[in-house]
Amino acid sequence: MRLSQFHLNTSKETPADAELPSHRLMLRAGMIRKLAAGIYTWSPLGLRVLRRVEAVVREEMQRAGAVEMLMPSIQPRELWEETGRWEKFGGQLLKLRDRKEAEFAYGPTHEEVVTDFARNELSSYRQLPLAVFQIQTKFRDEIRPRFGVMRAREFLMKDAYSFHLTAEDLDREYWNMYAAYGRIFERLGLRFRAVLADTGAIGGSASHEFHVLADSGEDAIAWSDGSDYAANVELAEALAPAAPRPAATESLREVETPAQRTCEDVAALLGIPLARTVKSLALVGEQGFVLALLRGDHALNEIKLRKVEGLGEYRMATEAEILEHLGAAPGFLGPVNPARPLQVVADRAVAAMADFVVGANRDGYHLAGVNWGRDLPEPAVVADLRNAEAGDPSPDGKGTLAIARGIEVGHVFQLGQKYAEAMGATVLDEQGKARVLHMGCYGIGVSRIVAAAIEQNHDEAGIRWPEAMAPWRVAVCVINPKNDPAVAAAAESLYSELAAAGIDTVLDDRGLRPGQMFADMELVGIPHRVVVSARGLENGTYEYRSRSADESEALERAALFARLA
Ligand code: ATP
Ligand code: MG
Ligand code: MG
Ligand code: MG
Repeated sequence: MRLSQFHLNTSKETPADAELPSHRLMLRAGMIRKLAAGIYTWSPLGLRVLRRVEAVVREEMQRAGAVEMLMPSIQPRELWEETGRWEKFGGQLLKLRDRKEAEFAYGPTHEEVVTDFARNELSSYRQLPLAVFQIQTKFRDEIRPRFGVMRAREFLMKDAYSFHLTAEDLDREYWNMYAAYGRIFERLGLRFRAVLADTGAIGGSASHEFHVLADSGEDAIAWSDGSDYAANVELAEALAPAAPRPAATESLREVETPAQRTCEDVAALLGIPLARTVKSLALVGEQGFVLALLRGDHALNEIKLRKVEGLGEYRMATEAEILEHLGAAPGFLGPVNPARPLQVVADRAVAAMADFVVGANRDGYHLAGVNWGRDLPEPAVVADLRNAEAGDPSPDGKGTLAIARGIEVGHVFQLGQKYAEAMGATVLDEQGKARVLHMGCYGIGVSRIVAAAIEQNHDEAGIRWPEAMAPWRVAVCVINPKNDPAVAAAAESLYSELAAAGIDTVLDDRGLRPGQMFADMELVGIPHRVVVSARGLENGTYEYRSRSADESEALERAALFARLA
């Protein structure tokens, strides 16, 4: 690619409303442009990176035995009624109506559509197992789209689904996909961790999330130093019931702006007396929303502000009071200190509190507040980590916990027969008996990975792409091409030779001043830079610099090619 023919539009200015480095750098590099809240255009530059991620994901899915297909974004309401999710999915589901008043959703995920496909296509156990995937645009009407493409409303997901005759087959495929996910994130050059997950709104039994480790991550994850135990600590998302968005009040805007604050900060802002012994409390607003889950004074000393609008007056209520309101037995709220005060607002909010807590035991809201063994079968090791601190004993009894922040980039689920049952997806087994399919689903946030990678790989000068994700591996920068035909010709021939050697190269033939050109290439994050100048030509060398090195080196042609091979 010649930059003179490309559209590169970088900026030195720091965008005012971008909180995270990845968001700032994607805007400054001109990778994305905002069209509306949570809706972005991918520029030619951004798209090159997105396609890199896609390519790795596609290859590894295929290697794992999944076959590619493409399902529609627009999905009829009737399908979503079959699983009950037209209502249950909540506010994230974007609903549409056509000219005949028929109702549709813009797909936030594709369990319904793929199960419909399966029930029509699959009739015999001989067709099993089947694993399919697609790389496709999803829409979720996120309450708070933010951080650019990290939490967008329209985003690109790889979603895969598998169908099996037995639970054992599903389990085997699940671990096959789990391994494929590991290969994907390794190939992309990301530091990541797989953790046990809450099964969230999708429902089902076994589930793991893949997190890219980054301090800016919205999730907290914990793992043991003495075993394989690792889990997501994050519960606020699963706890918060979907609710309409009321107008924000002035006083709360202040609370709303920063993504995370300490318990003390918010307690002060809200005027809540915060006892230091209180490790976790739920705030419930006047409108009846869960506002936040506050966590103790340690590594988890951050707040997940979810729905802060409409906060009204509150009073302290003891857990016993809440249990009475809920008509629930002690122990219902999970492993908490009975003396622990909870924040409750008036009676309306108590109702919401009930929804919040009882919701924990509804389908799709599993971990939160659940009493394992009584409400749900005891899984291998599931623990309430809300009050966990670094250094606590691991729930599996092996080693102690480390706690860090992560960005969820992938999620695998064993859905079991939930969707197949609801939608009547069966096949005939060897005995000619109809059997309900067992199903798994496996998602990767393709567009989120781009932002997550930048969170992990950047410096003051800009992005530092891992090789597999870079828009180009090599930039050939030409000094003064317009006035020096010999230099221009040398750069052209180096460019063609690199291309012929299969090395993905961009030629910066824009004729900018060297400083500007180098700043652009650093901002955009090209891993290798080669400068072609009159002086280099005289000495028979190229000036080579790795994006991660402080100094450049003068290399002869052979040495340069060896370096870039
Ligand atoms: P989150 O907890 O971040 O809201 P999720 O658990 O709701 O994500 P899944 O339903 O598991 O998401 O979807 C699969 C993957 O899609 C996620 O692991 C994530 O990488 C990506 N994803 C989900 N929501 C978004 C979003 N709003 N913007 C970008 N990527 C997203
Ligand atoms: Mg979500
Ligand atoms: Mg999640
Ligand atoms: Mg998830």
